[in-house]
Amino acid sequence: MSSASAKVDGEKPADKAAAAPDGRPVVVQVVDVSKKYKRGRLSVTALDGVTLTIARGEIIGIIGPSGSGKTTLLNVIGGLDRPTHGKVVVNGVDLGGLDDGRLSEYRLKTIGFVFQFYNLISTLNALENVEVPMGLAGLSKEERANHASELLGTVGLSLRTKHMPAELSGGEQQRVAVARALSNDPALILGDEPTGDLDSKSAKALMDLIWTLRKEKKVTFILVTHDPLVVARCDRVYSVRDGKVVREFFPKSEAAKRLSDEERLAMDTLY
Ligand code: ADP
Ligand code: MG
Repeated sequence: MSSASAKVDGEKPADKAAAAPDGRPVVVQVVDVSKKYKRGRLSVTALDGVTLTIARGEIIGIIGPSGSGKTTLLNVIGGLDRPTHGKVVVNGVDLGGLDDGRLSEYRLKTIGFVFQFYNLISTLNALENVEVPMGLAGLSKEERANHASELLGTVGLSLRTKHMPAELSGGEQQRVAVARALSNDPALILGDEPTGDLDSKSAKALMDLIWTLRKEKKVTFILVTHDPLVVARCDRVYSVRDGKVVREFFPKSEAAKRLSDEERLAMDTLY
């Protein structure tokens, strides 16, 4: 399996020459994306003309108040939902051109998902949880077991392979979830509040792991977060409000230390 180039059969390369200003290949292009949900006779605008570009190996944060469209944005990038308007191109594939079958293949092979509450299967041990997406992708039992135990080593859990989720701490469960997200060598990992249920030590360990994976596997991460610790360790952050990107900043730069009151409030909600 080649990393960052998992392709869906029959795709049409939409923009294969795309590169970020620094020359790195572009992994995600969101172009003027809007998403409206119908709620009875009312229409809710969850995303309103979002445009952004993410290069391979970037660690991107998405912040914003509750209801601002963060999860919807992850869902349209992850192929869990389709935009009402606009275009999402991932790894050169225009998701709008994929039928539902190809879109689920895209979710399985190109994307890894990490959620706030880990979402492990409680009746499967750590190793079996990591194997699940590989089974769906058609790997043999032996390949699955070997690759899953290698990935549990990568996330520092070689001694926990037979543990059930209930026998693992929150931080350990989230690392199993990261190993599971890596199982089909995705180009992109999407995290929706991945540290939202972790203590600060486990949250720091998770960010250390994300930095290692970016360095060693060139995985790209998009992390929706309220956690200042996560924001501080992203390369670049998009601040979202009312379905729009209102600001983009680089947390490691001086200017970014001056968050707007609203951004501070959005990050304070969990503290
Ligand atoms: P966030 O993750 O920033 O809290 P969401 O993306 O979940 O925000 O939601 C953005 C807006 O879209 C909210 O007003 C929410 O109520 C609405 N919304 C999200 N999903 C749905 C849905 N499936 N049906 C109707 N409205 C939705
Ligand atoms: Mg959300």
